[in-house]
Amino acid sequence: MTDTLRGSEARILFRDKDTFLAEENPFEAMMERFDHAAKLLNLDPGLYKVLRNPEKQIIISVPILRDTGEVEVYTGYRVLYNTSRGPAKGGIRFDLNVTLEEVKALAAWMTWKCALVNIPFGGAKGGVVCDPSTMSMGELERVTRRYTAGIIETLGPDSDVPAPDVNTNERVMAWIMDTYSMHKRHTVTAVVTGKPVEMGGSLGRREATGRGCMFVTREALAKLRLSLTGARVAVQGFGNVGSIAAELMAKEGAIIVAVSDKSGALHSTTGLDVADLQKWVAQHRHLAGYPKADTITNDELLTLDCDVLVPAALENVITRKNAPRIKAKIICEGANGPTTAAADKILEEKGIFVVPDILANAGGVTVSYFEWVQDRGGYFWDEETVNRRLETIMVRSFNDVVALAEKHKVNMRIAAYMLSIDRVAAMHRLRGMYA
Ligand code: NAD
Repeated sequence: MTDTLRGSEARILFRDKDTFLAEENPFEAMMERFDHAAKLLNLDPGLYKVLRNPEKQIIISVPILRDTGEVEVYTGYRVLYNTSRGPAKGGIRFDLNVTLEEVKALAAWMTWKCALVNIPFGGAKGGVVCDPSTMSMGELERVTRRYTAGIIETLGPDSDVPAPDVNTNERVMAWIMDTYSMHKRHTVTAVVTGKPVEMGGSLGRREATGRGCMFVTREALAKLRLSLTGARVAVQGFGNVGSIAAELMAKEGAIIVAVSDKSGALHSTTGLDVADLQKWVAQHRHLAGYPKADTITNDELLTLDCDVLVPAALENVITRKNAPRIKAKIICEGANGPTTAAADKILEEKGIFVVPDILANAGGVTVSYFEWVQDRGGYFWDEETVNRRLETIMVRSFNDVVALAEKHKVNMRIAAYMLSIDRVAAMHRLRGMYA
């Protein structure tokens, strides 16, 4: 059967032979939750059809010259899932595992996430199938500029605003902004967010997703009558989201008992020194080799005895296979889609309080919204203002989801979907159907 599948499809379906095929398809996983929430909302069948389909899907070839003089052609995607509430908003990832199904799922999640925190954006996502770790800086710049030129018709502060995601950063955003501005013949800072502060980026954007995770973890612990001070936290992924969530939680008194990245996982029952780990990673690129902690496997990290588990690396890491062994009281989903739909049911039966991805990691897009507002107004806020406004939105959104979960007796994820889908649907009803 694998022979009949193209590479990317095969990767989605057969990444782990023992896992049920559809469990790892991110778009199907998103749709399973969408269907559940839509049913509870009694969503009109016409609107159900509209919201189940992406508005626009772009597939392009991205040809570049390698440093050797050879031509390489990569595949690039941009999916605009829904723009009824405002310009499409969503990151761009450069990764070998990028597939159209994944980009579609991530674009849908962005739609629900923006609606959940009630900011005036729709949802999008983009990606290029490539391995940046094998590319020079010049090659990375050429891929970025050619990809930007390929999707330039959708881009714009009023139509589609990218941001960084896995393996892209503020350097890449600066190239996108420059390429777009050269085509427009004037500087357009608001076309991307997550830019360097010197060129219109927002203070606090780099830390925003991790900071948002910290705020909602604090609120979730309070809900269970626990405190962040003294809470034992395990964090999977030590990149932008994971390392900053760990840093900020440690500053609030949490004990970071484990962290991991793709090179392996580290464990200390008395707590890891997050600042020291960040220094180590800055020098050595990976956690591997860090001498002041025990090593464990990534699977052991996920099933560690702790109060809070923060999956902040990639999709489909909490599955029907390991969910029964998870011991954390709270899971705060820093990554997008870390839990499969099958695992959701197991976690619910075990009474684990899950702060779903579209809420837990919404701090990033919230401060991206602040950046877009600042660029358009040409007036920049101090970091304290950014962080305070972020906290207000995260705490309010957390409380909105808790209230809905309690009202409908559903878990936090389904409540989050219900709130978001209802907001997007309300906009469609008000705007009516242009046909
Ligand atoms: P990143 O590239 O900075 O970091 C990813 C980290 O995960 C790295 O430390 C990497 O080594 C680690 N990792 C990769 N494979 C792993 C594995 N098998 N086991 C353990 N660790 C592994 O990316 P990021 O920006 O921190 O994004 C992480 C997740 O958070 C993604 O799902 C992304 O979509 C989501 N997210 C990011 C933002 C943001 O603002 N950066 C916002 C919302 C959601």
